[in-house]
Amino acid sequence: MTSFNQKQEQLWVDDIPLATIAQNAGTPVYVYSASAFTRNLKEFSSAVQGIDHLIAYSVKANSNLAILTLLAKLGAGADVVSGGELERALQAGIAPHNIVFSGVGKSKEEMQAALSANHGTGICQFNVESEPELIALSEVATAMGKIAPVALRINPDVTAGGHEKISTGKAENKFGIDINLAREVYRNVRDLPGVEVTGVDMHIGSQINSLTPFEMAMDKILELIKALRFDGHQINTYDLGGGLGIHYHDDSDIPPLPSAYGAMVTKKLKGKGLKAIFEPGRAIAGNAGVLLAKVKYIKSGGARNFLILDAAMNDLIRPALYGAHHEINPVNAKSNHEKMTYDIVGPVCETGDTFAVMREMPKMQQGDLVAISSAGAYGAVQSSEYNTRPLIPEVLVSAKQYAVIRKRPTIKDILEREDVPSWV
Ligand SMILES: *Cc1c(COP(=O)(O)O)cnc(C)c1O
Repeated sequence: MTSFNQKQEQLWVDDIPLATIAQNAGTPVYVYSASAFTRNLKEFSSAVQGIDHLIAYSVKANSNLAILTLLAKLGAGADVVSGGELERALQAGIAPHNIVFSGVGKSKEEMQAALSANHGTGICQFNVESEPELIALSEVATAMGKIAPVALRINPDVTAGGHEKISTGKAENKFGIDINLAREVYRNVRDLPGVEVTGVDMHIGSQINSLTPFEMAMDKILELIKALRFDGHQINTYDLGGGLGIHYHDDSDIPPLPSAYGAMVTKKLKGKGLKAIFEPGRAIAGNAGVLLAKVKYIKSGGARNFLILDAAMNDLIRPALYGAHHEINPVNAKSNHEKMTYDIVGPVCETGDTFAVMREMPKMQQGDLVAISSAGAYGAVQSSEYNTRPLIPEVLVSAKQYAVIRKRPTIKDILEREDVPSWV
């Protein structure tokens, strides 16, 4: 089931035609489906209902306040990687005891903010990535008279992830503590004041299309947990990170369903006396949004036919950054049954500003709308104002209603942030 459907030869999001949104909010625009977010979260949570768990949605995938509020109302926790994301999660009403703080370079200010959340009771857990970071947290917490709950992020040295730039669990990646040093590090930090290290954390990569890397990493971490317990450490939580892939390509990459992932994890963790923490991002947000754009010009007759959109790499950088594939479909399906092959590009002055190369699709006309699929995760959050193109708006649809949940800034708004000193 999907929330983006063809009806009367038009693409709809739930009960609203995408063309209506283009008309009212303008293009390019991100369009999200509340029902898709809801369905994805419920599907993930029912897949792991057999074990004690927390779902800490990875805020960096899509951090809009309306999306976080929707997920908060459904009971989701949050995985944050900055003070800004922490503030978003708190403002959206996510319970602090359901918030985990990840990331390799937390500042003292960010640690203080997380420790004082919820009138001082603080967040669920800090995922700490190195000994120096733990010492810093120990100092901050001690000075505040608090005890920070900590899991150490362990790098299990497995290969995973759809692209080298989103693989995080190999020994040579910057993330986590080398699994071969883990026992020593847990021993070294046992008596540090202000921190209580009772968890193990991992996050091995993103857009992972097979259960095998998860299974390999889990086997290694569960063995480590056994050894840590043998060494006398109390280990209560196992944070498995995120990384489950989604379906981007109509013809390939069929990732495991959350139900299969959940069944595998449940089997491995049942009876182990561990609370599982999951940090899904893409699996919740990815296919809950599209980037809606308009064909500005069609340039043909040369070596290639170019479909020049009003959306560009600054709006959705995944194709330029990771060579990512996104399905691109006409919003109005009846326009033409004749097929054409296009390079689909944006107006930014970079060759990398290309959404698709040699893509076959129905013949398009200037002014036609296209929907770039699976743009709900790592889309709007990674956008920039390169070429002084204002950030594009985000729209949330729920059944028959929709609202702009981030408005398009004006050029004036952009220029007003800048100052010209008198001595220039
Ligand atoms: C990015 C990230 C996630 C989310 O990854 P997805 O592939 O979107 O599920 C979870 N945890 C950490 C630590 C991350 O950096």
